[in-house]
Amino acid sequence: MSTPAQCTRIRIFTSPQALEPLGVVEAAVQAGIPAKAISISDRHSTLFSVDFMSLHPYTRHPYILVLPQQLLEGIFRDKLQSHSVRIFRPYRMIGMRESAQRGMAEVSFEGGAVMRARYVIGADGSHSTVYYSFRSHGTDVLSWCR
Ligand SMILES: Cc1cc2nc3c(=O)[nH]c(=O)nc-3n(C[C@H](O)[C@H](O)[C@H](O)COP(=O)(O)OP(=O)(O)OC[C@H]3O[C@@H](n4cnc5c(N)ncnc54)[C@H](O)[C@@H]3O)c2cc1C
Repeated sequence: MSTPAQCTRIRIFTSPQALEPLGVVEAAVQAGIPAKAISISDRHSTLFSVDFMSLHPYTRHPYILVLPQQLLEGIFRDKLQSHSVRIFRPYRMIGMRESAQRGMAEVSFEGGAVMRARYVIGADGSHSTVYYSFRSHGTDVLSWCR
């Protein structure tokens, strides 16, 4: 996972409704700026507009939140910590293989660290190393889970 400093200046638009099941919506609403409508323009005219207030009958949050990515990541980090989940940064995964211990995987990281895990979940983006590692092992990898 990359370091928080790498995304300090990025502002993101996020749906409060998507954050609700994660139990972080209050913190995100407090940290962000609600936008009831957005309008995208070029130098000459409006290209398109979206009025989120029309979502009023369907959600408690008929707006989109604008907030720095680093703040949102901090909110997620605090939530995970409250569940005793630790995040290790920066660790770049480079490969994975079946462990000698049945049902376990050995995950290798840049710098030489190796971790053994019963579950490996890929949330590492569109060029997922986790996904390609599983693929390179073919279907055999499924037998690790049994
Ligand atoms: C310019 C741009 C603007 C966008 N703006 C918005 C927006 O405002 N609102 C919105 O909802 N969406 C936005 N998106 C889309 C959004 O960024 C993606 O949909 C979202 O980030 C996908 O999430 P993800 O967790 O799958 O992957 P990512 O966000 O890419 O997260 C993957 C994570 O895995 C880490 N990682 C990658 N490889 C490894 C490895 N080998 N080992 C360890 N860690 C690794 C990365 O460092 C990263 O932290 C935008 C996208 C772009 C390109």
